[in-house]
Order: sequence, then C-alpha cells, then structure tokens
Amino acid sequence: MSPVVVVGAGPVGLTAALCLCALGIEVTVLEKRGRDAVRPGSRALFVHNDSLQLLDRAQRGLGTEIAEHGTTWHTRRTLFRGREVYSKTYRKPTGAELPPFASLRQIDTERFLLRAAESAGADVVWDADVTRVSATDADVTLEAGDGRSWRSHYVIAADGARSAVRSAVGIALAGSRALGSHVVVDVSAGARPRPLERSYHYAHPALSGRNVLTVPFTGGFQVDLQCRPDDDPDDLTAEAAVARWIRAVVDEDEIGDVLWVSHYQFMQVIAERFVDASRRVLLAGEAAHLFPPFGARGMNSGMADAEAAARAVGLALTCGKRTSVEDYDRVRREAARRNSWAVGAALRHVAPPSPFGKMKLALAGWLAPHVPKIGEWLERAPYGPRRPPRPGGRGRY
Ligand SMILES: Cc1cc2nc3c(=O)[nH]c(=O)nc-3n(C[C@H](O)[C@H](O)[C@H](O)COP(=O)(O)OP(=O)(O)OC[C@H]3O[C@@H](n4cnc5c(N)ncnc54)[C@H](O)[C@@H]3O)c2cc1C
Repeated sequence: MSPVVVVGAGPVGLTAALCLCALGIEVTVLEKRGRDAVRPGSRALFVHNDSLQLLDRAQRGLGTEIAEHGTTWHTRRTLFRGREVYSKTYRKPTGAELPPFASLRQIDTERFLLRAAESAGADVVWDADVTRVSATDADVTLEAGDGRSWRSHYVIAADGARSAVRSAVGIALAGSRALGSHVVVDVSAGARPRPLERSYHYAHPALSGRNVLTVPFTGGFQVDLQCRPDDDPDDLTAEAAVARWIRAVVDEDEIGDVLWVSHYQFMQVIAERFVDASRRVLLAGEAAHLFPPFGARGMNSGMADAEAAARAVGLALTCGKRTSVEDYDRVRREAARRNSWAVGAALRHVAPPSPFGKMKLALAGWLAPHVPKIGEWLERAPYGPRRPPRPGGRGRY
C-alpha cells in the first residue's frame, strides 16, 4: 500500500507529487495519457511569482529554472475601439530572485514539473485511467479501466475538469456553467519580433467590436478573442478565418506558424466539498474548481491547492488524525470562493450583463484618453481585483 496516490499528471498533480516528495513522502502518480502523448496548446501561460516561489520551495531552483525559460514583459497597453487608452512600462524589479511572473506554454511548465517530480522520486504510472474509487475509513482503492488497482492511505485527485475521482466519491459542482467563450490561438514568432508587451483591445474595430487580448510567451504569442453570444465558433476557428482575423490584430511579418487553435467555453463552478466523506480523498485544481481565465487563477490556484493538500496529507500521516484534511477543505474552498468572486468581477467587466454596465464601459472608453484614472481602470479590470476581500490561507490565490 502506498502512503499517497495522486491521480492526474497535469500541472496540479505534478506539483502535489513534488510537494509530497519534498516532505519525504513516497508518492505514486496515475495518469491516463501515455508517456509520449503531447498535450495541445498554450492554455495557462502565466506562472505567477507566488507559484514560482512555491515550486522553489518544493524543489530548490525549480521556480528559477521555469522563470528563466519563461518570458516576462514590462509593458501593458490597453486600447478601446482602435484608440490607445493606457500604456505603462514598469521598471524591471532589481534584486528580486524571481520575477513577478513568467509566461510560457503550459506544456513547457509541465515538462519542467515532470522532470522535477521524477528526479525527486515520484513514481509516474502512464496509461492508468482511473475509473473506480472505493474510499473507506481505513484506506482508498483505485481501479483503472484495464483492471489494475492501487491501495493508499490518501488520494489527491488532480484529474482535471471532468474528474472521474470527484464523480466516484459523489461530490457535485455548484455554480454557473457556459458563461461565455473565447477562441484561443497560439502563434510562433514571425520574421520580426513582436514588442514584448501584453495588450488588451476593447471593441476592436476590425473584429466587429469583439475584445481581444494578446500575450507573449517564450517562442511566440497567444491571441485570445472573446466571442459574442451569437458567434458560431466554427466561423472563428476555421483555418482561413483565423488567418484573416489574426492579421487584423498583429502585423503580417510578426506572424510565424499558427500552432494551436482552440475554442474555450468557460465555467465558474466549485466542488461542494474538497474532501470526500471518509476524509481520505482530497480534490485539487480543476477537479475542485473551474474559473474563467481572467487573472490566471486556474493553474496558479491549483498549484496552491496542491501544496496545501500535500501538507494536509503529510500531517495526517504523521499524527494519525485527519483534522488537517478537514482544514484543507475549509481553507482551499474559501480560497476558491475568493478566486471565483474575483473572476466574476472581471467577467462582469468585460461582458457587462446589464444595459447600465454596457453604457458605463462605453463611456469609460470615450473618457479614458482624457482621464488617466479611467484608462487605468480599463487596464486593470479584465483581470479581476488583485486582493479579493477576506483573505484566508497564504498567497494571492
Ligand atoms: C485556453 C485555456 C487557457 C488557460 N489559461 C490559463 C492561464 O493563463 N492561467 C491559468 O492559471 N490557467 C489557465 N487555464 C486553466 C489551466 O489550463 C488549468 O487550470 C490547468 O490545466 C488545470 O490543471 P489540472 O492539473 O488541475 O488539470 P489538467 O491540466 O486538466 O490535468 C489533469 C490531468 O489528469 C489526467 N486525467 C484525467 N482523468 C484521469 C483519470 N481518470 N485517470 C488518470 N488521469 C486522469 C489528464 O490526462 C491530465 O493529465 C487555461 C485553460 C485553457 C483551456
């Protein structure tokens, strides 16, 4: 019997495995993909400073290694209907060991995490599609579709949005589904490098008034187009359509190859409990919560869950009591509620549901070139409040 099994070798599962190894706890990771299966797309680009520090705690130098591979920009630009309303270049922090964030494709972050977890001693089992879970007061048994099984004292379920473990232990998700959608496109760098800046364009005139975000990552950039409720995603994701609209956003010679096109329907849901009735199965990352991507809270808050889950399990294994597991449920669910509140505020800002909200945004766009404070508000609001109220636990996420 293993002390702990982690289900899912995504960024959250691998972070949990690393944190467990750092605590000297033996861990097995079960992953349904094959070792060589390539995950598509950039997805979570932004690894926040909190997460870089967390990874450095889990394995000395890992946060630094990821930061060195990633890109950090210092200029932020906001436009409204073709007019610049905000632009600021921040000074590079001096003396800090880690940058405020690093931008790299999630597949690259996962590559670093996997290498670190395996070198720390995590046993990753590929092609292990967990389909059944039986949790009792004494232990947990996991079964894969091919008949293999594993027993452990604790399970950290990091098997993503459609978590089979969450379903098997009967924990429901609560919240709003299908809140809106985006088309996300990764493009490799073209002949001429793009300026190293993040830009948000409200109501882009060449995109029939849709909002569009452009974010650099190492080797290219991601363009995130906010769909309108009546958009047919196929009209925006077809090869010819992407080739056309992307040229309205960036210059021709800045475009290399289109690496990935995805239509992303987002949800704002939180598991009703983060721990099962036996207090032996802990949900983490997207198995526990789904947020729209504003403010980069998905992967970053999942990494914070992973560290907290590893500590809770570590304490429970040491003292034989499960109060730390109950604390995990309370603290990380509260953090998820705060994150959800923050993305909700961002969502209402970029897609105001009321006529008053729409009017306020249009007025802000008109006034912003004359009133810098309004330009600043337009720049910040799409990412949600920085410090949601009633903080609990540690860190931003
Ligand atoms: C387009 C897009 C852009 C995004 N941008 C950002 C961003 O900028 N910043 C941010 O923080 N987040 C972002 N996110 C969200 C981020 O990608 C997710 O939060 C992150 O991938 C969640 O990690 P996870 O490990 O919880 O789940 P996943 O990455 O989904 O990993 C789950 C793992 O579990 C495995 N698995 C699933 N079922 C089983 C099973 N039954 N048995 C064994 N293994 C299983 C899967 O194969 C997978 O490897 C974005 C997402 C998308 C789609």
